[in-house]
Amino acid sequence: MENEERAVVITGASTGIGEATAYLFARQGFRVFATVRRDQDADRLRASGLPIETLLLDVTDTSSVSRAALKVRAATGGKLFGLVNNAGIAVAGPLECLPIAELEKQLDINVVGPVRVTQEFLPMLRAARGRIVMMSSIAGRSALPVVGAYSASKFALEAIADTWRVELYRWGIQVILVEPGATRTPIWDKSATLTTGSMEGADPERVELYRSLIEVGSSFARKASVEGMPVEEVARTVLKALTAPRPRARYLLGRRVWQRVVLEKLPVRLRDWILFRGSAGKG
Ligand code: NDP
Repeated sequence: MENEERAVVITGASTGIGEATAYLFARQGFRVFATVRRDQDADRLRASGLPIETLLLDVTDTSSVSRAALKVRAATGGKLFGLVNNAGIAVAGPLECLPIAELEKQLDINVVGPVRVTQEFLPMLRAARGRIVMMSSIAGRSALPVVGAYSASKFALEAIADTWRVELYRWGIQVILVEPGATRTPIWDKSATLTTGSMEGADPERVELYRSLIEVGSSFARKASVEGMPVEEVARTVLKALTAPRPRARYLLGRRVWQRVVLEKLPVRLRDWILFRGSAGKG
């Protein structure tokens, strides 16, 4: 890499994987630009005592992304070692009941957002032969009931990374997918809240049809929020993706992710039957 200063932008650094990644990169001597949406999150990151610079950025707001990119350009002389597209949400709920606005929000934040951010930062990445990490998920390879909207967003993100990997090859810009399984972060509590929130406009009789499925999904989320892997494991993988001399195109990590990989290799009717058996209750 040509950029001696090794500046890295990490989106969605207020909590969870993004926050842990910002701390790890700062400890490793990178110049870290951590993006958040609220001043109090910026204050907290700075109060960590680590050399982290913060930027206010909402991935759905083009002008906030442009402002952040201008600041990074001015601070770094226009050379960026790495961009970590981490910001994301998880909307949960059976597709029949999901208000379309919730689906649009899911896709805007998890799919359009990383494209919007990457477009703005690409000239700086090109100038430094930098790398891009897309924070996907095992859900980007394997779709489960009740989290169809989230899976759709991660499948789309994988397609975007596959496209960009080839489009950007000529400039030596590597595009790397990180695909964690369940990780202990606030996203699980947030998506539980969203499930309730997103179901508010839905017809209660239709929601009731999916009661048992929703319960299976909720208990999976509760378990993941306690038993998921620690955020530091994902942060270390992002570090590897940005620094390995020959990075892989995909880093799949986490407990039991290989079960899902195997599941997706089965004949589709068998795969569906296994999932149906696992998620079918009385409802
Ligand atoms: P968190 O909820 O802890 O972090 C999500 C981050 O994204 C927060 O900083 C949040 O900011 C930010 N964010 C949400 N909406 C926007 C927006 N419109 N603009 C800018 N930032 C936004 O969850 P995780 O750490 O778990 O998630 C990080 C990434 O990892 C996501 O892409 C997620 O899909 C992925 N992932 C998570 C897994 C898990 O099990 N936790 C497994 C696989 C992948 P704010 O605090 O302001 O809302």
